[in-house]
Amino acid sequence: MNPDEIQQNLIKASRMITMDDIIREGYPTLREVAADVTLPLSDEDIILGEKMLQFLHHSQDPVMAEKLGLRGGVGLAANQLGLLKKVIAVLIPNDVEIDDEGNEVAPKEAYKMREIMYNPKIVSHSVQDAAVEGGEGCLSVDREVPGYVVRHARVTVEYVNKDGEKKKIRLKDFPAICVQHEIDHINGIMFYDHINMNAPWEIKEGMIIVK
Ligand SMILES: [Zn+2]
Repeated sequence: MNPDEIQQNLIKASRMITMDDIIREGYPTLREVAADVTLPLSDEDIILGEKMLQFLHHSQDPVMAEKLGLRGGVGLAANQLGLLKKVIAVLIPNDVEIDDEGNEVAPKEAYKMREIMYNPKIVSHSVQDAAVEGGEGCLSVDREVPGYVVRHARVTVEYVNKDGEKKKIRLKDFPAICVQHEIDHINGIMFYDHINMNAPWEIKEGMIIVK
């Protein structure tokens, strides 16, 4: 299928994205730079973003994830569907809270971040680096690649949201890491490109470890 056919297929009304739609390492689209989405947003691109976010919801829902055979994910980029368009979706659940009796309770806000981003771009970043404690994984990578994925601790990102509004947000901690992982995808970069393969668990001076 060519990219137009892939997108037309993915945005059908009852269609759900599954692991079969996600391309894996070795497929060239993962190493290519995606093109900007044309503005104003087309219905096709709006629906594509919604389907991508829906996939993340399903992947985090134990019942749907089992039914559809999904690996859990917090982010997805259009390149991973074989589409060279600058579209990413991010869905980061909030941590459970502990009440006065020490019981785990659902957080007041279910998500730390829930966003579809068109043409996202890092416009500035901290000098300080950060990496996720246990390393990173990727829905397009079916193997563990151990090591700190060294990223910017804080980033300012510009993008267009699904309503066509231009946004500029500052991110830190895990959302900053996740959005950098996804923006990398639309620029043909894989997470392990940021691992120092000679010393994968070396902590550079001043680097924050994100839990
Ligand atoms: Zn990934």
